[in-house]
Amino acid sequence: MVALTFDDGPRRSTTTEILDALEKYHANATFFCLGIHVEGNESVIERMLSLGCEVSSHSNEHKYLTQLSPAALQKDLTAANEALAKVIGQRPALLRPPFGSKSTSLLAQLDVPVILWSIDTQDWVYHDGVQRSDYQRQKDLEKVVNEALDLVEDGSIILMHDVFFFSADAAAEIIQRLTAQEWQLVTVSELFAAKGIPLEPGKSYYHA
Ligand SMILES: [Zn+2]
Repeated sequence: MVALTFDDGPRRSTTTEILDALEKYHANATFFCLGIHVEGNESVIERMLSLGCEVSSHSNEHKYLTQLSPAALQKDLTAANEALAKVIGQRPALLRPPFGSKSTSLLAQLDVPVILWSIDTQDWVYHDGVQRSDYQRQKDLEKVVNEALDLVEDGSIILMHDVFFFSADAAAEIIQRLTAQEWQLVTVSELFAAKGIPLEPGKSYYHA
């Protein structure tokens, strides 16, 4: 079992491409959304839920949470929670802090589990703004796909981003190849539940 996770969205165009791939291969994933990206993308988030995907928080404005005052931290997280709750009907259960930044002090202020990752595909390095030939883009794509495929193990959490076409293309390939190898692609909550590992508020997790 493995959990694919997507940060920074939703972005209708690119997130939809990933959802199409998940639907095609009957796979699930977790989307750590930014609160500021919720408005206008409600139907994208509703589709995530209808496919069985998990929707949680990546904060509101993608700041370094470790650098915020307690008041600013709560303001940011509350804004994201409220934006997401309007669509998903409940407060998001998990937090993926921007940049994966965390500290003892940050964790002590949180009442949700922090989900990090065990495999960083580095997909964001090759974002759509990189100037390159189609050949080089394909090579970059294979690099990202192979990073996920080579390192995957039972309980892995894979980090990707759903705001680039490059990432969406790589994700589609990863989803197809992992399912072909009979990996079960599940949500973060499903992964930890299946392993019997409780997710506790104020603790951080890299894999199950
Ligand atoms: Zn991010």
